[in-house]
Amino acid sequence: MKDSCEVAIVGSGFAGSLLARILAVLGYDVVLLERGTHPRFAIGESSTPLANLSLERIGIRYGLADCYQLATHGRWLENFPHIRRGLKRGFTFYRHHPREPFADRGLDSERLLVAASPDDSLSDTHWLRADVDHHFARGAAAAGVDYRDRTELTKAELTTETVLLEGSRAGKAFELRANFVVDASGPGGFLGQQLSIPSGFDRTHTRSALVFSHFDSVRPMADLFPEMAVGPYPDDWAAVHHIIDEGWMYSLRFDHGTTSAGFLLTPRGLNALPAGDAAPTTLWNALLQLYPTIAAAFSEATPLMPISFRPLIQHRLARAGGRRWALMPHAFAFVDPLFSTGIAWSLRAVERLALAFEDAAHHGRVPDPAVVRRYETALVTEADQIDLVVAGAYEAMAHFDLFAAQAMLYFATVAFAEASQRLTPTESVAWNGFLGVGDQVLEPLPGESLRRLRQITSSRGEAGSNAERKEFSDWVSHAISPRNIAGLADRGRRNLYPVDFDALVAQHQLLGLSRDQILEAIPRLRGGSTLLADAGNRHSLPARDASGTRVEANQGP
Ligand SMILES: Cc1cc2nc3c(=O)[nH]c(=O)nc-3n(C[C@H](O)[C@H](O)[C@H](O)COP(=O)(O)OP(=O)(O)OC[C@H]3O[C@@H](n4cnc5c(N)ncnc54)[C@H](O)[C@@H]3O)c2cc1C
Repeated sequence: MKDSCEVAIVGSGFAGSLLARILAVLGYDVVLLERGTHPRFAIGESSTPLANLSLERIGIRYGLADCYQLATHGRWLENFPHIRRGLKRGFTFYRHHPREPFADRGLDSERLLVAASPDDSLSDTHWLRADVDHHFARGAAAAGVDYRDRTELTKAELTTETVLLEGSRAGKAFELRANFVVDASGPGGFLGQQLSIPSGFDRTHTRSALVFSHFDSVRPMADLFPEMAVGPYPDDWAAVHHIIDEGWMYSLRFDHGTTSAGFLLTPRGLNALPAGDAAPTTLWNALLQLYPTIAAAFSEATPLMPISFRPLIQHRLARAGGRRWALMPHAFAFVDPLFSTGIAWSLRAVERLALAFEDAAHHGRVPDPAVVRRYETALVTEADQIDLVVAGAYEAMAHFDLFAAQAMLYFATVAFAEASQRLTPTESVAWNGFLGVGDQVLEPLPGESLRRLRQITSSRGEAGSNAERKEFSDWVSHAISPRNIAGLADRGRRNLYPVDFDALVAQHQLLGLSRDQILEAIPRLRGGSTLLADAGNRHSLPARDASGTRVEANQGP
């Protein structure tokens, strides 16, 4: 084992592995240190358009064909059918009430569907992380990264000159010197402990517990409600959210028949459950008993691994980077699976650090401290923003109308970001703020929304009056209007939102484009082919597939 390298990366989830591989492509000498082995179970599975846009950009910029191919369900199936995934056409929400079956009242149902893609081939995916992370770890090794699994790190010492890591592998102690260390080791991460980074938890609002597993034979809602009003996509091929009094449940269907499902329970919700402190399986069954439609969906399901419980899934540190170190988002902070922000945020961070190392490649070979400070500031502000959006959504769960309105804040923000990133891309697009950060219209909204919601609910889950709920929905609709390019918050839609290119064309001025410009650019939203053609000339790096083999230009990405 060599005892020095330029960059050490701790943790080989997709974020650590992908960054390691990009840095190797850029010519850095990288060691990737992993405590466990692949394949291994990991949670955090549902991707989004912004995540896939990052993957496409990474694929194009660094010549990593597989990243581009994994960015839509159609290309994924065509190129990597053995890597398991699920079709995710959008975000589906149902409101359930204790001891009552879900009420299918046609277009008046407590049901919200927001499409994220116009068809199956361009769709997002749920990632079976065991397969996906394994793929990315292999890709890193094939690109020349020194990948060391089953590594137990015991110490990190940082000076102004160097980083010293100590640990052992297969019973053999080692020391590794690096110029820079990136911590991609997730919650309770390595550097957080080694550098005694103070907690930043106090500044956050969201709190939830999780009971979860993977299951087979979960029945689709479409089977239970065959007469359900037709939505913009099949309800179940999505990130399905069941909102309940105690919190909410995610249900993510993979193409091979497995479903990842978990209940997120608020402290108040958990305390109110008689089985709140029982064994995970007892708690799971108690929740199913309370909600008959969810119970029906899981009536024939069997867990594929033991049902597990985590009493608190949030974490947050006070720092995200320094002179010779940086944390990936999941090592720095996590809020909640609601709205699936984790993968997109992590990939954005991969892009940013990759750009920082690109800049450093010709002078110093260590990211400029000013760039690391910029990275840290971005992560701190963005973690706050994600927390406000999600905390507001938990508050809004008191009534479905409030929730549907709050969800519009999130969807308007990401739809605007996706359209502007695709239609008016810039070299520094990865530095654009996540979830509206840096946008003078969008950035203040989550904080203001949380304040308004707490007034309505008295922070005790009260549903408020009809007038209060209507006022809140009207406020959201008005507040997002300068960025609402997707026809959202439209009562006429009855909570069923397809991808609406007509709305986009009608709102062309919000993106600073003429009607003709937007009509011409629409193919970019339909699959990125124009983006690719543009990129072909811009970047001269050779394309490589996951095994590191060079791909000829006409093969992709
Ligand atoms: C309940 C839950 C649900 C989620 N759902 C979603 C979702 O639907 N969509 C979404 O976008 N995001 C979701 N997320 C967030 C998502 O899980 C993260 O964004 C993602 O896992 C980050 O990937 P990563 O590669 O940075 O880290 P991780 O996936 O956490 O990987 C960390 C790696 O580091 C290794 N490691 C840990 N400690 C050490 C050490 N000391 N030394 C060496 N190696 C170490 C681990 O073995 C692991 O391989 C969810 C998170 C949770 C908790």
